[in-house]
Amino acid sequence: MTNNQFTADFQQLFGHPAQGLSVAPGRVNLIGEFTDYNLGYVLPCALNFSTQVLFKTRDDKQVVVYSNNYPGEQDSFSIDNDIAQGDSQWGNYIRAVVYVLKKRGYALGGIELLISSDVPQGAGLSSSAALEVSIAGAFNQAFNLRIDTKTIALIGQQAENEFMHCQCGIMDQLISAQAEAGHALKIDCDDLSTEKVLIPEDLNLVIVNSNYPRKLVESEYNQRRLDCEGAAQKMQVSSLRQANLALLEQTKAVLTENEYKRAFHVLSENQRVVDTVTALANNSMDDLRDLLAASHQSLRDNFEVTVPATDGLVDIISRALEGKGAVRMTGGGFGGAVICLCRDDEIAVVKAAVEREYQPKFDLHADIFVCQAGTGLAVNTVS
Ligand code: ADP
Ligand code: MG
Repeated sequence: MTNNQFTADFQQLFGHPAQGLSVAPGRVNLIGEFTDYNLGYVLPCALNFSTQVLFKTRDDKQVVVYSNNYPGEQDSFSIDNDIAQGDSQWGNYIRAVVYVLKKRGYALGGIELLISSDVPQGAGLSSSAALEVSIAGAFNQAFNLRIDTKTIALIGQQAENEFMHCQCGIMDQLISAQAEAGHALKIDCDDLSTEKVLIPEDLNLVIVNSNYPRKLVESEYNQRRLDCEGAAQKMQVSSLRQANLALLEQTKAVLTENEYKRAFHVLSENQRVVDTVTALANNSMDDLRDLLAASHQSLRDNFEVTVPATDGLVDIISRALEGKGAVRMTGGGFGGAVICLCRDDEIAVVKAAVEREYQPKFDLHADIFVCQAGTGLAVNTVS
């Protein structure tokens, strides 16, 4: 399964072959946006884009890492020292995982690592989670740590939260660690229980990155969180998961307009996740189209996290599809990507419409990725 050039690269860098290969995918969220920190439902799907890590233990305590995506660069540090930020921006993700593993008390040794990935970086497909999960998987196998996949995901999230200072939820790491080929995963962010959901074989995932330069994302993100917390507090529930639309209407008078709108989005979006699971089971394109359209509309009007470029992409694609596909923005908003679900015949239609209409209107180039539902973390020995 490893490609020959990659194993040869390892041999050339370290002077001997690797002992194992850890592989973890990027992801896209089909529906369930901004529901994660409100302890609701999300429905991500792993992609057939993945990050691969060849590894071999060392006799000393050094971690030495290269990435084929950053040729000529290297990071190394001793696991015996306190793990601090280094000079390599990408190397810090490896340090982050080691920092958390050490903090959790796992006994580690030195290791050689070579990374290679076809997950586009910064395109909203969570290359960072793929990296964290594949690195944690490599350490798990190399030092026989016996960590289950759910804990691997939590370690990846903790690495991102505490070391990279990015307050992401658990979704990206959990789908990367636990995905099964051909399936999405419905995650209940309240108790982290999961349910695998078959993706019909004739359904393609077309992801279009707007490449819109993101601004103000963090402050806006935090404000949305505060609005959701405020709404929950005024409804006297511990999180929006404990609320429902009837309670929201009863409490409307004491909520600010934004608290009401944000909560309305979250509560209706949770229901849309549940309904999307049914729509996938029925392979009903009409239902998928209506659910994704309603999600996008709510993200635009109630949660207010879309931008003209992502609204424009959704508009261009849905007009081109003439009802024969589903489309909405996906990910953290304020730019980023849109996800389109469609049959084979429509892929070319979507591509042509985006290539014809997006650039002239928004003066940006969109990247288009046609994907299938991929498999989760896999670690194997290399012979
Ligand atoms: P996203 O997760 O949406 O792709 P992030 O900014 O969260 O974007 O993560 C991207 C960062 O993750 C990169 O800047 C880099 O530091 C790191 N990264 C991802 N993939 C690789 C790789 N193959 N090799 C080295 N670093 C990587
Ligand atoms: Mg990321």
